[in-house]
Amino acid sequence: MDLSEYHINEEDKMKLLQEKVLADGIAINENILKVDSFINHQVEPELMKLIGEDFAEHFKDKGITKVATIESSGIAPALMTAAALQVPLLVLKKSPSKVLNENMYQTIVTSYTKGTSYELTLAGHLISEEDHVLIIDDFLANGEAATGAIRLIRKAHATIAGIGILIEKSFQPGRAKLEEQGFYVYSQVRIKKMDKGVIELIP
Ligand code: 5GP
Repeated sequence: MDLSEYHINEEDKMKLLQEKVLADGIAINENILKVDSFINHQVEPELMKLIGEDFAEHFKDKGITKVATIESSGIAPALMTAAALQVPLLVLKKSPSKVLNENMYQTIVTSYTKGTSYELTLAGHLISEEDHVLIIDDFLANGEAATGAIRLIRKAHATIAGIGILIEKSFQPGRAKLEEQGFYVYSQVRIKKMDKGVIELIP
């Protein structure tokens, strides 16, 4: 898809991601979607820029001071969002770095795709109670990653402006879990159901 051919207004930006998911996303089974050719392994910068602009447009009046994401697949769209909002990007680390020291917030998260757990880490000096944070992630499935990010940010007494998701699998419980806790979720693409080779979107 040559994005330079498009004259894109706000609404069409996300149609582009929808088209991309339908054209290049690979449904492995009823639960897992591979997006290796444009998000997870190869990254399309122009698409990420549009995604970032759409999140920024959506959350522009929310007083966001920082964008946060979990390494690594969320970094590209989250960086573009932070750039469009002109705020810093916090990358929540999946393993504690040796150079990070005592002043760290940590929480355990269970990985949906790998079935394993990891310790999410954020250095204390990078966040404060003054911060109002927008969380961006590539997928929303069971909501474990987003809930972990929320826990971590709250440990620093910062507040959550909302959660921005590229691809929500709406047949899984993530959105409901986050909304039950009172969080606002904006997903650019919502998948109604999947099966091997089949992807059905919520229009
Ligand atoms: P959750 O924590 O909401 O259960 O899962 C979200 C995380 O798992 C995302 O950060 C993403 O990395 C990964 N994930 C969940 N579902 C999928 C999927 O269908 N495809 C891919 N590529 N990653 C997924």
